[in-house]
Amino acid sequence: TPELSGHFGQIMAWSDEFRTLKVRTNADTPKDASVAVGFGAEGIGLCRTEHMFFDEHRLPSVRRMILSESKEQREKALAEILPMQKEDFIGIYKAMEGRPVTVRLLDPPLHEFLPKETKDIEALAVDMGFAVEDMLTIIQGLEEFNPMLGHRGCRLAITYPEIAEMQTRAIMEAAIEVKEKYGFNVIPEIMIPLIGINEELTYLDKVVRNTAEVIRAEKKSDIEYLVGTMMEIPRATLIADQIAETAEFFSFGTNDLTQMTYGFSRDDAGKFITDYKEKGILPNDPFQSIDVEGVGKLVEMGVTLGRKTKPDLKIGVCGEHGGDPKSIFFFHSVGLSYVSCSPFRVPIARLAAAQAALSNNKSAFTDK
Ligand code: PEP
Ligand code: MG
Repeated sequence: TPELSGHFGQIMAWSDEFRTLKVRTNADTPKDASVAVGFGAEGIGLCRTEHMFFDEHRLPSVRRMILSESKEQREKALAEILPMQKEDFIGIYKAMEGRPVTVRLLDPPLHEFLPKETKDIEALAVDMGFAVEDMLTIIQGLEEFNPMLGHRGCRLAITYPEIAEMQTRAIMEAAIEVKEKYGFNVIPEIMIPLIGINEELTYLDKVVRNTAEVIRAEKKSDIEYLVGTMMEIPRATLIADQIAETAEFFSFGTNDLTQMTYGFSRDDAGKFITDYKEKGILPNDPFQSIDVEGVGKLVEMGVTLGRKTKPDLKIGVCGEHGGDPKSIFFFHSVGLSYVSCSPFRVPIARLAAAQAALSNNKSAFTDK
């Protein structure tokens, strides 16, 4: 685990005396989590759970879950994944030694977990007792023309609440076990992705809370937890006052927020953004550095509206911009509570947060 020592460590320690923004990390593994702690991360701001589902040992269960024809079959497949998912969180909580951990419920579209090669599709059909043609039809039925705007995030959890229930169980049981065995008092923050309609959140908040309460009763535990949401769909920022009635925290997903505000595909925009920069149409790549006058306005609105409902609402950012110094100046200026970035960006984020607090003006991010 890298540690910051010597003169660099000293500068970082000084910078911590000035900054008001907390710095968390985006981490999905115990290794990344402990690297980030070595760099001074004060928590996990985003644990993406989708990579865990791609693990080769659990992919067969994940595929059974997706292809199940009934809720019972789906629950059986999820029960196979639960112990592995619980181990994931135990490892991460231990590495974070009691610091806060935001775990995001499953986000990608389900067809991403299904095989693409014919031989793999044939093998899966044999394994599951389907005819190959039927398997192909099911896979085609799950494919979408525009998956990033499709059946993912909270939409998936609304269709299949059992997935959110399994993940909540793993998140809570792991926290209870880590507290009992290792004495780390983790307060998990359960984060629901891709909310754009208030009722999506109120529906899933109930699913998550009901499950969490069942587990607290089963385990006779009074462990605390929070339920919050990503702010990554422009509509969510416009109704952030309503959303804050339910959400206990917000985290801006500026990757999706940038994609949907500009209408640029985050996976394809690189092809023309270079041209745009050369021709003076865009000063920067908005996926790298926050677009203050557009996307930033939505961030500011989300913060203002959210805190109108809950003045102390904890609000962070976990998109790529959370590790970009210029963007960090902006996040400081709109009063975010923390930024979250990849482990190796944590030191620069700490420095940028301190500089933002010291300069205390907005000029540093306008390039003027
Ligand atoms: C985001 O959209 O900014 C985000 C953090 O989520 P993801 O990149 O996983 O979509
Ligand atoms: Mg996102």
